[in-house]
Amino acid sequence: MTYDADVAIIGYGPAGVAAANALGSYGLSAIAFERDKDLYQRARAVTVNDWTMRLFQSVGLDATVKEVMDPTYALRWVTYDGQEILRLGFPPGELGHATGYSIYQPLMEQRLRDGAARFDQVRVHLGVAVTGLEQDADGVTVHTRDVETGVEGSYRARYALACDGGSSKTRAALGIKMLGDTLGVRWIIIDAKVKRWWPNRHILTFWSDKERPVVDIALGVGNHRWEIPLAPGETDADFATPEQVWPLLESLGVSHDDVDIHQWAFYNHHIRMAERWRDGRVFLVGDAGHLMPPWAGAGMQSAIRDAFDLSWKIREVLAGRLPETLLDTYEAERRPNVAFYTEVAVGLGKIIKQELTLEEVAATAPPPGELPPLLWPPFLAGGWLRGAPTPDSVVGKMLPQPTVVTSRGTMARLDDALGTGFVLLGDGVSPLDVLTADEKAGWDALGASYLTVRAPDTHGEGHDELVDIDGNLTAWLRRFGARVVAVRPDRFVAASDQHGLAVPELAG
Ligand SMILES: Cc1cc2nc3c(=O)[nH]c(=O)nc-3n(C[C@H](O)[C@H](O)[C@H](O)COP(=O)(O)OP(=O)(O)OC[C@H]3O[C@@H](n4cnc5c(N)ncnc54)[C@H](O)[C@@H]3O)c2cc1C
Repeated sequence: MTYDADVAIIGYGPAGVAAANALGSYGLSAIAFERDKDLYQRARAVTVNDWTMRLFQSVGLDATVKEVMDPTYALRWVTYDGQEILRLGFPPGELGHATGYSIYQPLMEQRLRDGAARFDQVRVHLGVAVTGLEQDADGVTVHTRDVETGVEGSYRARYALACDGGSSKTRAALGIKMLGDTLGVRWIIIDAKVKRWWPNRHILTFWSDKERPVVDIALGVGNHRWEIPLAPGETDADFATPEQVWPLLESLGVSHDDVDIHQWAFYNHHIRMAERWRDGRVFLVGDAGHLMPPWAGAGMQSAIRDAFDLSWKIREVLAGRLPETLLDTYEAERRPNVAFYTEVAVGLGKIIKQELTLEEVAATAPPPGELPPLLWPPFLAGGWLRGAPTPDSVVGKMLPQPTVVTSRGTMARLDDALGTGFVLLGDGVSPLDVLTADEKAGWDALGASYLTVRAPDTHGEGHDELVDIDGNLTAWLRRFGARVVAVRPDRFVAASDQHGLAVPELAG
């Protein structure tokens, strides 16, 4: 049977382009269809964090996207009379990147599209809409129509990713319901070019108010964003011209001397999740599978994380290293994570809309020294893991990314030294000295590599070593009492010597 590509990507927004980069970097072929000829110019998402940046790093794009982003300084909730209710700093995280970046989505997406263009085996058809699909035991056939010429086509792939956004026609065609609610309030989103500085422009500010809370955000590359709810009785038509929009900014003390408004749009927020994310060989990815309010800045990031999670799993299945049932762990792992960020977003929204008393807001602040949920390092609540991912277990946690030195003396970020496969790491011990023959055979079959993590004051013994120059990696392993860990391509710990080092089981 012949295929046009390993994977068909339906929709080329953040989810689609993330999948194209991940699949392309793994050497898989992909064919993407996007109905819009040009990149969507409305800036929607405003932020990415260190987890997402680490994913961009894994496909060699972190440096290029950072050129069109700025690190986020802090986040504060302020009442209209100037009282600061809560402030969140962005402390340096452990994943090897700043914990928050302010972005300008169209520029970031363009960099990601340029990145996917590096791969000859990734083909992108712009201005081509997917009109339907059917699947059988071996693959998916995707039907398309050129939006301008009307020319129709059919393409066959082993799997298809529905990255076609919140109103996904693919989801509808599969008969998958989107459960949840759309919130009644309509928001106007105003994007502007900065002409001069104003006090605290760099601090992401939620102007908290019952009637008219405002989100006030510095975006990347000299852009600024305000998100403002329409008042009862107001409609989109009341803000059809710049003259009608300007009073909203003027009421916040922003004048024509400060910014030029360059676009605005209207949105309703949703709290929705597809009842299932998989139908045979077709997967819902990003907004096609879930929608959340923007308060945690996690909608687009969840779309990108979905795409990367599924891509490495498809790689393993197509290579015949792991059974097809690995693909069921996509939803098992990503759904609880998306639900977690949705809950965080809803909670933050309550503060912005002053649905909580000041005492209740104060109670949401974490104890000193602890991070709020929004800044928790990534974790898995279940999935392709050996042993329960409890809070005190290393299993299910994401490995930090310190700077290390390879055994040949080159300083590198951990991930750049580890590559994109499975890796077993031993704290001062070779994993090979700890694994049983069966356990080793299991990881060998996955092409795993085995590395000893050395303290900088010890003498190296061989080539399969990393020097933990700042001691951060070994400190992290010891915090969880782990001596050897098995790390997945996405840098989550799949197994440790505490719960057994055999490859996690899968049905089939
Ligand atoms: C106001 C606002 C603020 C936000 N802020 C943030 C934030 O700070 N951080 C964050 O992470 N997220 C944020 N989000 C959410 C974020 O924008 C989305 O989650 C993200 O764009 C989802 O990406 P996606 O690729 O899944 O879907 P989309 O971006 O919707 O892309 C889907 C693509 O599929 C194409 N398509 C659809 N149907 C077809 C078809 N039949 N054939 C071919 N192509 C098709 C569409 O043209 C589109 O390009 C915000 C959203 C809004 C509305």
